[in-house]
Amino acid sequence: MKLLALRCPTCAQALKPQNPEVVVLRCANCETAVSISDTGLDIIPIQFAAPAIKPEQIDAWVPLWIFNGRVNIHSRQTQGSNSQAQQDSQQLWGYPRRLYVPAWELPTEEACQIGGDLVQRQPAFQTIDSPSAKATLIEAVLTPEDALKLLEFVVFNVEAARKDWLKDLRFTIEAATPQLWAIPAQKAGSGWRLQPLVE
Ligand SMILES: [Zn+2]
Repeated sequence: MKLLALRCPTCAQALKPQNPEVVVLRCANCETAVSISDTGLDIIPIQFAAPAIKPEQIDAWVPLWIFNGRVNIHSRQTQGSNSQAQQDSQQLWGYPRRLYVPAWELPTEEACQIGGDLVQRQPAFQTIDSPSAKATLIEAVLTPEDALKLLEFVVFNVEAARKDWLKDLRFTIEAATPQLWAIPAQKAGSGWRLQPLVE
């Protein structure tokens, strides 16, 4: 393990990550979002999504990568035939889309569920000013490169959930550099439940 002097690039305050896999965290002093990689520390822009609820219903903000991209389905083979399922698939991936990947630490299955739900709904979040430093931003543990890999599972899961018994799926994803968003969340068991947003 490499030991870096973790200091905020803006105010030099010591940063204290909770998670050893941390990729992005927020400075508790000046609220700068800081990305940590092998090449060092950098300031990273982050957008806070406007909640549709009162601030006191927010326990923390969770990080989410949003890519603008396109999923090109090259072949989709199924065991059953269901023209609605085929049509829905073509409708979803026939256009450039926003592609969403949860970046906080959570089980892959759950990340796919959340990403798949969002990609089918295509919400466009509105930004608000960054909430005060007292508002916790949960650390991101997923790099954009890893998010792109997880996105393949998201796409696969969406297609496998259709009612025509997916047998084989060949596709490629074209995606630009993602933006990091912070989404209001409420504590739910050992994880986080996303709170309603202004879309
Ligand atoms: Zn700082």
